[in-house]
Amino acid sequence: LSDKLDKALHVLKGHGSITEVNVAETLKEVRRALIDADVNFKTAKDFTNRVKEKALGQNVLTSLQPGQLMVKLVKDELTELMGGDATGIDLSGSPSVILMSGLQGSGKTTFSGKLANYLKTKKTKKPLLVACDVYRPAAIDQLHVVGDAIKVEVYSDRDEKNPVKIAQDGIAFAKANGHNVVIIDTAGRLAVDEAMMTEIKEVHKAIQPQETLFVVDSMTGQDAVNTAKAFNDILNFDGVILTKLDGDTRGGAAISIKSVVDKPIKFIGTGEKMEAIDVFYPSRMADRILGMGDVVSLVERAQEQFDEEEARKLQKKIAKDQFGFDDFLKQIQQVKKMGNMKDLMGMIPGAGKMMKDIDIDDDAFKHIEAIIHSMTPGERTDPSSINASRKKRIGKGSGTSVQQVNQLLKQFNQMSKMMKMMQGGGGRKMMQMMNR
Ligand code: GDP
Ligand code: MG
Repeated sequence: LSDKLDKALHVLKGHGSITEVNVAETLKEVRRALIDADVNFKTAKDFTNRVKEKALGQNVLTSLQPGQLMVKLVKDELTELMGGDATGIDLSGSPSVILMSGLQGSGKTTFSGKLANYLKTKKTKKPLLVACDVYRPAAIDQLHVVGDAIKVEVYSDRDEKNPVKIAQDGIAFAKANGHNVVIIDTAGRLAVDEAMMTEIKEVHKAIQPQETLFVVDSMTGQDAVNTAKAFNDILNFDGVILTKLDGDTRGGAAISIKSVVDKPIKFIGTGEKMEAIDVFYPSRMADRILGMGDVVSLVERAQEQFDEEEARKLQKKIAKDQFGFDDFLKQIQQVKKMGNMKDLMGMIPGAGKMMKDIDIDDDAFKHIEAIIHSMTPGERTDPSSINASRKKRIGKGSGTSVQQVNQLLKQFNQMSKMMKMMQGGGGRKMMQMMNR
């Protein structure tokens, strides 16, 4: 996915100026990236249409840094689509009652525990967990295990078969025992069915919770949207909990759900442990869905430093086989201007881990620069003229060995060949090559 986005951004960066065709091409890639991340087709299409309109409206084509503006538009729109700012939960009641809903296996019981633990530690509340899954005795046991682990009291009644009654008794128990938050865990089925819907509706009506939360497994992709719609039609819930985001799902379901039911996503679950809960931040999710790590800031910095005009000139030179050491030197200086190599590489998704073990420091360029500085202008434009005696002289002049000079010449040759092959020019490719 991030390859795709990379490609999309490259379309913008590779060419000196943006044309309408480029915008369309880029948005097509963005749309593909979204669909890959489980965003449904219509939502993705509407999304890219909106970005396109904005891009044209803001005169992206004639702006100073079209690529940068484009990336920003895409990210902002995506963030907006997921609800803008993070939304909290309503804890105003006394006690405030929170009702969990969702299919079996979506993570209701686990999340009930996580939320209780979160409210207890972060908001110094005294929560009570209530077990309303009357069909499986194991479900009651599970909630007790969770409660024990986080030291939160659990109300259950194994003889009572009416979930409405248990919920009401639980709230009464909370009032009598000084609990100011009541979290009601309910039963779910494997798929949406009439009986489950009737039951949750009755519980909902009887207890009038401050917050009704819909819990959904982010790995269920498109199904999640239909389930969300079914529950929302019945409950008109207040917020969505997206669980199991610790897997390699991109979380595109978040966008689809938001656009179908128009309710905020409030928390995400990122693991089985009780601590694996996070407030949902739309802008972070936008990054995740676009799979771009800190690519935005990388693009921004790269764009600042690489003169498009310069890049075009370079491209011509490569095409004509006129790329010499002076150009090479310029490229090194450009890369150095962008900051510490390691930091820079760390911003590229996937590359960060790799770079930890390899020690690239800016000193790596020192020898190279010294060698090039010891060459005559003639030698720089025509490296093939550098014979054995010249190598010796350059080595001496730069305080390096003939071997080091040879090594640089070899690398330079390989690189010019590669560059000719790639024909792209531009900073990103240059960096990739240097890295190799
Ligand atoms: P319920 O049927 O809706 O109550 O779902 P459970 O809370 O019992 O969760 C079903 C399964 O999903 C359990 O094995 C949980 O450990 C697991 N689970 C719940 N939330 C998460 C999460 O955020 N990440 C991961 N990896 N597993 C989760
Ligand atoms: Mg459960």
